Amino acid sequence: MKVFVNNKPVELADGSRAFDLAEKLNLRAPHEALAALIGGVLYDLSHLLKEGDHVELIPFDDKRGKEVFWHTSAHVLAQAILRLWPEAKPTIGPPIESGFYYDFANLTISEHDLEKIEQEVEKIIRENYKPERHLFKNKEEALSRFKSNPYKKELIEGFEEGPITGYSQGEFFDLCRGPHLPSLGKIKAFKILKTSGAYWKGDPKRETLTRVYGISFPDRKLLKEYLTFLEEAKKRDHKVLGPKLGIFQIMEEAPGIPFILPKGMIIWERLLDFWRKIHRRAGYQEIKTPQLLSQELWERSGHWHFYKENMYTFEVEDRHFALKPMNCPGCMLYFRSQSHSYRDFPLRISEIGHVYRHELSGALSGLFRVRSFHQDDAHLFLLPSQIKEEILGIISLIEEIYGTFGLSYRLELSTRPAKSIGSDADWEVATKGLKEALDEWGKPYAINEGDGAFYGPKIDIHIRDTLNRSWQCGTIQYDMALPEKFQLEYMDSDSQHKRPVMIHRALFGSVERFLGILIEHFAGRFPLWISPLPIRIITVAERHNAYAHELALKIKHAGFICDVDDSNESVNKKIRTAQLMQINYMLTVGDKEVENRTASLRTRDNVVHGEIVIDTFLRALEQEQAERSIHSPYVAEVEA
Ligand SMILES: [Zn+2]
Ligand SMILES: [Zn+2]
Repeated sequence: MKVFVNNKPVELADGSRAFDLAEKLNLRAPHEALAALIGGVLYDLSHLLKEGDHVELIPFDDKRGKEVFWHTSAHVLAQAILRLWPEAKPTIGPPIESGFYYDFANLTISEHDLEKIEQEVEKIIRENYKPERHLFKNKEEALSRFKSNPYKKELIEGFEEGPITGYSQGEFFDLCRGPHLPSLGKIKAFKILKTSGAYWKGDPKRETLTRVYGISFPDRKLLKEYLTFLEEAKKRDHKVLGPKLGIFQIMEEAPGIPFILPKGMIIWERLLDFWRKIHRRAGYQEIKTPQLLSQELWERSGHWHFYKENMYTFEVEDRHFALKPMNCPGCMLYFRSQSHSYRDFPLRISEIGHVYRHELSGALSGLFRVRSFHQDDAHLFLLPSQIKEEILGIISLIEEIYGTFGLSYRLELSTRPAKSIGSDADWEVATKGLKEALDEWGKPYAINEGDGAFYGPKIDIHIRDTLNRSWQCGTIQYDMALPEKFQLEYMDSDSQHKRPVMIHRALFGSVERFLGILIEHFAGRFPLWISPLPIRIITVAERHNAYAHELALKIKHAGFICDVDDSNESVNKKIRTAQLMQINYMLTVGDKEVENRTASLRTRDNVVHGEIVIDTFLRALEQEQAERSIHSPYVAEVEA
């Protein structure tokens, strides 16, 4: 029998399985050949191959490989828990971005138990079971197999028609779609990370469950690297640093809606000032549309029908309203309220829109997952001939914004999905415009075939921070639906009324989330131009206070934020406090400095630079600030 790998034929004995193909190709290492992709479907390696199959063997490096690996590991975790606490009821155990978790009902454990669980896991892995797939005849059979577990029963009852499968490894059997690792021996390193509470189905009204998080790898070295990364990430956690540095706070009275504190407002204002400057230069006009808009509008935009669950709705004087979850409909109303000619295009309308989206309380996380945020939105109205140029314009803004923070980024183009509106010709024009712009931009980009929205192709922007973590921030989205729904028109050169091409785009994405990313990216050590407290003057004794305040005034007049620590603490203590606040420049003043009208400079990296001339220092800082530099002229290496 012949199958194909990378379009090359491979000869196999009849009745061969994907496993035999992996053997033949010598893919035996723990990170190789974890599952087989055939015709877009992922199978276990025990899957029987057919003549002519095109097979891709998925390794751990592949996102899908990691899913199989971590998903199987979640089963191992559940097996270990059941051996130790036979009364526990397993519910669900999915792979996540890094590792996996499993939720259990009827289980109470503490941090002290984690080691015990790990030892049991080690034992199970050494037993090296080969997970076996079991196909249920029907729903009834599956229900009776799980009759002692109400959670699994609820899952099965919710399944739509189609095969229901389970997997066994040793004495453990679990409801599961698969696929799984061919053998547990592929797991070479396994770590339980933490436990937390969770709700069944994420619903606070349902049962409370115990969630256990873990991660596993086909190599011990990978686990070590991951744990080092976790430690570094913990030091940079914006949920800890943000409140500590006085940037933001989340209070019980407003779950998921951050308070931005005075220091945070300084960063906020600088970010948006920068954003507005470059957008005005690029020909954008800014508007601000209402936050509360009527039900009829949301019905027209389609949100009432498709998005109502995530919207905050109200009744006021017998009329229904919703807080906006998106800015688009407001901007469409604005466009429609004016008359437009082809000569006005491209028309670029921006809005720092404050939106509200309901998220389940369990999903909330610092500034990353909130219920209210500001989008740096814009809607562009174009002639079909202007798409490419306009996309290139947006990409150059992306380069400027992310480049300024030292964030690298990559772009991904998503094309027409199976279910879509619009004609073939519309999609052709739209996709070609986006693609030509990306080609002209000249850097590599990924294409996600069929991953666009039903109303148009899009370009997503993924950034990479200092820890090499990837974040999806901005997006450029072509939209064929809204101009139609709002009957938008312009007068073309042939005096015909036509629908404009419309593009949504956001570059920070959510300003709140971007702020959180910046806190972690810089570990709270902000570059001067967005630093909430760039300069602190530290007095040696009380007799230096008058000069310190005089100097502070001079620095403030030069346009910098500056404060004075004239407390009775020791100089060393004051310096430590300033360093914990990540203040860029500390200026100490004692007898000598008062006499010379200078200051003694110490930078955040704890280097003492000695006495400095104030005017020279301020000129260097003015330049550092004007260039929005991420490097200090006084600091030898990059801090972030
Ligand atoms: Zn599974
Ligand atoms: Zn929009």
